[in-house]
Amino acid sequence: MSLHNQAKSLIRYQSIGTFCIVLFIVAGIFSYFLFKGNTDYTNRLKLLSDQIQLEDKRQIKLEVKHARNYISFKSSQAKKQLMRQAQTAVENAYSISSAIYQQQKDLASETQIKALIIATLRHLRFFNGRGYYYIIRSDSRIEMSPPLPHLEGAIALEVPSIAESVRSVLESVKNPDQAGFSQYRWYGPSDLNSKTSKISYSKVFEPFNWVIGTGDYISGFEDDLRAAALQRFEDLKVNDQTNITILNTDGYVISHSKPSSVMLTKNYQLDKPLMNAILKFAKNGGGFTNFSQLSQPDSEAYGLLAYVETIVPFNWIVMADIIPGKVNSVISAQKRQLEEQSQKNLLMLVIILGFTLLLTVLMVYIYNGWFKRLFADYETNIDLQKHAISQHIKQLKLAARVFESSADAIIVTDSERKIIAANPATSQITGFSNSELMGRHPKFLSASATDKHFNQGILAQVKELGYWQGEILNQHKAGQVYSIWLSVSVSKDSQNNILNYISMFADISERKKTEKRLSYLADYDPLTKLAKHHMIAKRVRKLVFNNAADEQNVFALMLINLDRFKNINDSLGHSVGDQVLQHVARRLSVNIRASDLLCHVNGDDFIILINHHKAQRAAQRLAGRILRDLSETLKIGIHNLVVTPSIGIATFPENGDTFELLRKNADVALQHAKVQGRNNSQFFTFDMYQRAADKLTIESGLRTALNKQQFEIYYQAQYNLSSAQLEGCEALLRWHSPELGNPSPDEFIPIAEETGLILPIGQWVLETACQQAIKWRELGYEPIPIAVNVSSYQFTKDIVKTISSSLSKANLDPRWLVIEITESALMKDPEFTKDALQEIRAMGIKIALDDFGTGYSSLAYLKRFPIDKLKIDRAFIMGLPTDQDDLVITRSIINVACNLNMTTIAEGVETVEQQFLLAELGCDQMQGYLKSKPSSAEQFALEHLKTPEGINLQNSQNLSGLSTKRTF
Ligand code: C2E
Ligand code: CA
Ligand code: CA
Repeated sequence: MSLHNQAKSLIRYQSIGTFCIVLFIVAGIFSYFLFKGNTDYTNRLKLLSDQIQLEDKRQIKLEVKHARNYISFKSSQAKKQLMRQAQTAVENAYSISSAIYQQQKDLASETQIKALIIATLRHLRFFNGRGYYYIIRSDSRIEMSPPLPHLEGAIALEVPSIAESVRSVLESVKNPDQAGFSQYRWYGPSDLNSKTSKISYSKVFEPFNWVIGTGDYISGFEDDLRAAALQRFEDLKVNDQTNITILNTDGYVISHSKPSSVMLTKNYQLDKPLMNAILKFAKNGGGFTNFSQLSQPDSEAYGLLAYVETIVPFNWIVMADIIPGKVNSVISAQKRQLEEQSQKNLLMLVIILGFTLLLTVLMVYIYNGWFKRLFADYETNIDLQKHAISQHIKQLKLAARVFESSADAIIVTDSERKIIAANPATSQITGFSNSELMGRHPKFLSASATDKHFNQGILAQVKELGYWQGEILNQHKAGQVYSIWLSVSVSKDSQNNILNYISMFADISERKKTEKRLSYLADYDPLTKLAKHHMIAKRVRKLVFNNAADEQNVFALMLINLDRFKNINDSLGHSVGDQVLQHVARRLSVNIRASDLLCHVNGDDFIILINHHKAQRAAQRLAGRILRDLSETLKIGIHNLVVTPSIGIATFPENGDTFELLRKNADVALQHAKVQGRNNSQFFTFDMYQRAADKLTIESGLRTALNKQQFEIYYQAQYNLSSAQLEGCEALLRWHSPELGNPSPDEFIPIAEETGLILPIGQWVLETACQQAIKWRELGYEPIPIAVNVSSYQFTKDIVKTISSSLSKANLDPRWLVIEITESALMKDPEFTKDALQEIRAMGIKIALDDFGTGYSSLAYLKRFPIDKLKIDRAFIMGLPTDQDDLVITRSIINVACNLNMTTIAEGVETVEQQFLLAELGCDQMQGYLKSKPSSAEQFALEHLKTPEGINLQNSQNLSGLSTKRTF
């Protein structure tokens, strides 16, 4: 599976996983809240019911407590009240008795008054019918006792059954107030046989010294109290749901707050076991309990909550029970409310969880996108890393290949400088096999002569800078010492500890030799063994510099060029040329002084630096010697050669203060020497510059001259020396330049040759000359051959085509065309020229060799070329008839040409003497100012051409202009 697919499934699993986890968590939370809600709900209900119960209990307890307090208050007040009531009753009786006594004391007898009071008091009753008055005399005789009339008159202290009670009454009044309370036991109101506690108040009625008193049974008073307490209990209002029941110890219901609502009714007697259970619970302190604990489980009151307490003074049992219905309704109301609330909560929970799920899906979606991007990055990263690793592997392989195939020795050592790897080149260079190298210290390879300190120095630098390189000596296993170029570097770990030393070296012995040779070659020309150009440049700079300090430091720069050296090279071959140069170098070097410097610049150029305080004179003398020495014939192999120099000289400081400028100016002087006819020396003058500038002007003028139709061809007549007949003419180019006037062909033709302009110009001359021949014919003149100069530069592979096309364009018969070539054209490429000339000649064109005698071509050499005519150079004709040398040369040329069946023509014939001499020597033709100067086509025709009838137009008619000419 691809990484990409893996990523896709990974993302899918991840998403599903995440979603499941969230779903699980959500379900968990949901269940938790559901469970918690339920528990809370139950707890809250329980709490609520507990609270309600607690509140009820509290209220019940409170109410019962209030009732109890009331009862005990009432109970505690009972005696006092009873005493207060008894006192009040006695005070009333006293008041009544006093009132009767006051009223009757004067009216009736004491006995009567007594009887009246007793009669009044005897029937008075109070305390719910229980209360009555008694009267006791101070001697304890009973004056009045309503319940016990039979004891009236008896002395009470003598009646045992009452003696004690009466004594306590009598005791109670023995005080200053003569009144007081007493407690004693007395016969009950309903039953005279049994006694019960009674409290009495007694007061002495002084008039008769009676003790009047009354009392009440404490029990009777308590019954009243009990009734009031019951009433109080019946009025208890705890709440709607609580019943209050009072039971006596016999299990009878004494009181019930809501008789109708419960099974208990007044005077209902509880069944024995329940009764006993309640009584027992009450006896043990009471409190809250469940009815079920008290009664049988199947009892109707099962589940009732009850409060039980004993009311001590009356021995009552209070039982408050709570009706569950109302509580339940409260709880169910609360329950409803809680259910609504929990439903709301549930809804909220569902919404939140739904929202959470939605959010999760969204997050998972976003996370997916993010993860995909992350993974894409990761993938790209892996691809990059893969690429880097594969690159690294490639590099390692490459390094291994380099290591194996390197021509340089490579040695790797460990940190202890023990060899751990060496490439094959190491064995080749050192002579030690790989196994001999392993584990050894590389310094054993060094030559024994190598200084120990030097080795340590290398190591120190390597340790400090991490590399060292330089040249040292090694010793081969076989013993020989050789130079090596050693580079030592180190590889370090991340803690900068050196792991390995890597040494690379190459045997540079050969290289050093080569370097030496190269450095020699850089400075010296191997052919002539002379210094090169830059050596002189260096020396010149030094001298110029020195001149600043010492003005005596002057010098001259001499530029020497061999005249027509090219011809030697071309005709005799380079080997001859080289030997010529070596000879020349030797001849030059013998002429210079030690302080001078001779250098071979290139080809046939030499420079001599003449370091002399009279540099100009020294240069002049040296130039003279050189011209003389070099003009001596050189014998090289079978060749006897004469090599002349042209010399240009520039002096420092007059002609320049840099080598470049001096050299340039010396060159200008040299060119001037060439122009001056070669084989001479020239000092640089500033007007030479003008000529150089003129050359530039000519060049630029030439470029446009053809288009501007500034060229014209002049014709010079060639006459037969013996018959004086016109036998031909030579076409000579003229340039009518608006800027330069009419410069000579000798000035502009070499420039045209140099610039290549000679090709179009030469072609134009050929074509124009051919057309002119036809024109003359059309004008009615007798045809004559026209000789056209063809430069050696025109001898390209196209030359034959150019010539033949010129003929065919003009429709001229080839026999009317003569091609003039110079020796240099023959020598340039002899084989090619020969073939070309043969082709030209085969067309029927004649070939003339121009300027004959000035070059090196031997006459024998001429045989090899198809030449019809020799033109003897003007230089030889000039000296005629007086110069014997010229005469000899001219004669021999004519003789040889005759032998070779060539026609001869003498150039530059200016005098009649020359004409006669040449005729005498057997020269065939002549050309020169003597007969005519070159002239325009019209002029030439007028002056020289004839019609078939032999009429010379100039002689017969003085006509000019083409229109006139056309009449012929
Ligand atoms: P050249 O071919 O030797 O031409 C003969 C030169 O000698 C011509 O000079 C001519 O005017 C001159 N001359 C003739 N008779 C006498 C005389 O009696 N005395 C003196 N002092 N001079 C005489 P020009 O016309 O100035 O031409 C000079 C050279 O220019 C020619 O020498 C030829 O080498 C070259 N040249 C002229 N026209 C052409 C051309 O169309 N093509 C080529 N390639 N070279 C040409
Ligand atoms: Ca010529
Ligand atoms: Ca010539």
